[in-house]
Amino acid sequence: MIMSVHSLRIVKKLAEKLSVFLLLVAVVGMIVWWRRDDNTQAVLKNTNIPTDTQKTAQSTKPISSPGFNKKQYSVNDPASIWVVVNKGRILPADYVPANLVENMNLRSEPATALKSLINGAAKDGLKLILVSGYRSYTSQKSVYDSYVATQGQAAADTFSARPGHSEHQTGLAADVGASSGKCQLDKCFGDTPEGQWLAANAYSYGFIIRYPQDKTSLTGYDFEPWHIRYIGIDLANEVNKTGQTLEQFFGLPAYSNYPADYYQLKTGS
Ligand SMILES: [Zn+2]
Repeated sequence: MIMSVHSLRIVKKLAEKLSVFLLLVAVVGMIVWWRRDDNTQAVLKNTNIPTDTQKTAQSTKPISSPGFNKKQYSVNDPASIWVVVNKGRILPADYVPANLVENMNLRSEPATALKSLINGAAKDGLKLILVSGYRSYTSQKSVYDSYVATQGQAAADTFSARPGHSEHQTGLAADVGASSGKCQLDKCFGDTPEGQWLAANAYSYGFIIRYPQDKTSLTGYDFEPWHIRYIGIDLANEVNKTGQTLEQFFGLPAYSNYPADYYQLKTGS
């Protein structure tokens, strides 16, 4: 069979059209494949989001730093900056801190730290003041006895420490307030800008809110947003990170009430 010149031209044209068509199919195919790859990556990205969130949630669990030495200082020596005083742990009646800074009524270390804290608040436009620092066994006794006389012992025990059981006798505790006097030594201090600043920043100066709102059954005291306890920056960071009370952090018993027998804290122990 002999093809005419005319039919050869038709075949050539068809071949040209076919190759253009094939090229188009290839290009469209590549684009579709590429888009599919994009979608796959997007799906992978989406599945990564909950994984990351889970990781973040795990890292905020209340676990103290692995290298942190919980025995660095004594919790039983009244002179130790880590001493734990509560309803079950009593200070010697004659214990007086050695290095009280007179104009601040605190030991020298917390006095310096409190000055920094007050300066830090001032930089954020808030004026904090020291309301009350060191109280001797005798002065705590008269404070507590006057509350018992007016409100009865059960009520007094929820907000005032019996003599020997007050952190104020260590010279490491401070009651702070706003210079305006608003909500002074009142729970509403926690809602003031000064109280909120204190709750958020005290730890970075070595203090903790010792009687938090959600730990009253563990501390044995009502919420005291104004009462801060100096424990040093290292421990304050750890306690802040774990969200525990001092007792929980050190694995010590919690006393919501006064027990029949007290643990006697001793100098040098
Ligand atoms: Zn206090």
